[in-house]
This record gives sequence, C-alpha cells and structure tokens, in this order.
Amino acid sequence: MRAATPSKWTKAHASPSSVVGWRSSRKAYGRAPGAYQEPTLVVFSGSVSTGGCGSATSEVGPFYCPADRKLYIDPVFYDVMEQRLKAPGDFAQAYVIAHEVGHHVQNLIGATSIKPAGESKNQVSVRVELQADCLAGIWGHSARASLKIDDADLKEAVTAAHAIGDDALGHSNASDYTHGSSAQRIRWFRRGFDSGDPRQCDTFGVSKYTDL
Ligand SMILES: [Zn+2]
Repeated sequence: MRAATPSKWTKAHASPSSVVGWRSSRKAYGRAPGAYQEPTLVVFSGSVSTGGCGSATSEVGPFYCPADRKLYIDPVFYDVMEQRLKAPGDFAQAYVIAHEVGHHVQNLIGATSIKPAGESKNQVSVRVELQADCLAGIWGHSARASLKIDDADLKEAVTAAHAIGDDALGHSNASDYTHGSSAQRIRWFRRGFDSGDPRQCDTFGVSKYTDL
C-alpha cells in the first residue's frame, strides 16, 4: 500500500491499537492489567513546545514525551524517510508512529525506569528502543487483518527499521548506539510482528547485552 494520507494512520495508531499489547505487557511485568490510557498525537510543523519535555524542532524526528503522554510528529519526517532514508510507504510511516506508541506503553508499564546493573546509558537506551520496535511489531500483528497488511507492507517497515539503525545512520562505534543496529531493529520488530505476543518483547529479560 502506498500513498495513504498520514491521517489514516494517525487515526489507526492513536486509537487504542496497542491495548492488546498493553494488557499482556502489564502481565509480563507482573502487574495487574489496568485501564489503558491513550496517548495524544500532536501533529506540528517546524517546532513545538511540549508539556514537560521542553521544546523541539522537526530535526529531532517523531518523539514521545512521557511527562505529558503525547506523541509529537512533524509529517515532514515522512519526506525524510522517503527521500533521505529511502524508506517510503504508508506502513513504514505506521511503524514509526507505532514505535512512539510503544514508548507510551513502556511509560505506563514502568519499563523505562528499569536500569540494568553495569550498563551504560546508551546500552539501556538500546534496550528501551528495541522494545519499542517489538511493541510496534505487536501492533502490526494485531492490525494485520483489519488493515490488510501484506508482504509489501511488511517490507516497508523492515526497510524503515533498517534505515534508522544506528549503524545505517553512520555510528561506527557500537558504544555510541542508542537505538540498536539495523539487524537488531529488524529482529525485534519481527519478533513482535510474527508472534503478536508482548512477552516476546522483554528486552530487559535478555541478560547479556550482546545477546540482544
Ligand atoms: Zn524510540
């Protein structure tokens, strides 16, 4: 599928598409399932000020602010994906938003406050980001039938996951990684997408960092 308007996807994503993932994620973290609170999606142009995460420009790309539980995106990022990152397609766009919704779910379940002993800030960040990729995959799995996601769509998401891997973005030193390599990002997205099981997304349960 190509050329769908972002609004189609924002609608699909800001709706409680990740509720399924949410319930089981909470269970996976040993918490009783509670009510899911939807994040708010803020579409901005140029720059934006958040409720607790300072202000940001389009340069930073889409992001989630835990303080106000909002997702922020300037749709110009879709042009960056298509032209600079060579990752076009509406499902690639969907993956990006679903990844940010993943951060929201992490915020709600407390996954972002886990600090594995002896790991650097960047390493913890990689665990967080790969988990968000996996949760995005969970969303993709659950939307497979309703949105008629086919192999071409899946390829778009995988291409995007590859394009925004730390190595593909030019970080040659693994200790500088904050989001994971292209291979890792694809692997964790596919884990969620193929299984539909949020328990498969427990990046913090992988004891050795190098096994991620
Ligand atoms: Zn992220």
